Amino acid sequence: MLVEREKFAIVVTMTSYIQNRKIFNIAELQKIKVYENNEELVDLNKVCADIICKYKKIDMKPYIGNSIFVRKTVAQKLNKANNSLKKINPNYKLKVVYGYRHPVVQKKYFIKRKDIIRAQHPDLSEDELNAITHNFVAMPEVAGHVTGGAVDVTIVDDNGELDMGTNIADYTNTEVIKTFSKNISKIQAKNRKLLHDSLTQQNFAPFYGEWWHFSYGDREWAAFYGKKKSLYSLLDFKKNKPFL
Ligand SMILES: [Zn+2]
Repeated sequence: MLVEREKFAIVVTMTSYIQNRKIFNIAELQKIKVYENNEELVDLNKVCADIICKYKKIDMKPYIGNSIFVRKTVAQKLNKANNSLKKINPNYKLKVVYGYRHPVVQKKYFIKRKDIIRAQHPDLSEDELNAITHNFVAMPEVAGHVTGGAVDVTIVDDNGELDMGTNIADYTNTEVIKTFSKNISKIQAKNRKLLHDSLTQQNFAPFYGEWWHFSYGDREWAAFYGKKKSLYSLLDFKKNKPFL
């Protein structure tokens, strides 16, 4: 049991991380030790049938078909966040468009983006290239999706996705996709905050560079909550094959 003072300290700490709105760089994420608690990956829809699970990309189909897989605790926390949204509006539900990503897919995206940036800036060192590329595609070693701890998520009602100002993974304007961008309407800001609050209440870490990306148990989550090690590491998972 936590005494009141400790509870207060936790609330204050969490609030300061959230108010800080910090985006961590590679060096900060690499400081976090990688730990693996061997928690299983689960089909999110089997834990919570109410959450809409629908890929916008087809890159994971060869590995796991159309199912979205996440770590078990992540699925349970998403279920709780979904229930909390329903208390605000019974028509609200979460829509998850990405969960676990195979490391091969992550690496492919990272190299592709790095090559584009290298062509534009041929003088940059490998470290500098990695740092800039990481702003667009997470470096595989520190990425969240490859651990099964990260999700790309939004909220829907009877009319479809709530207006968040941009579509998920629309990188046309990298300023406007920041969670607390000043270049969005009041309604869009309110909708983003609703998503942000419902997930951070379940101890997900937001990624403030993309309003739709949240994670639990990965290095980003550990950095956000001031922890020294992650709960999850990168997994090489294929459906119908034993993992870990
Ligand atoms: Zn993501």
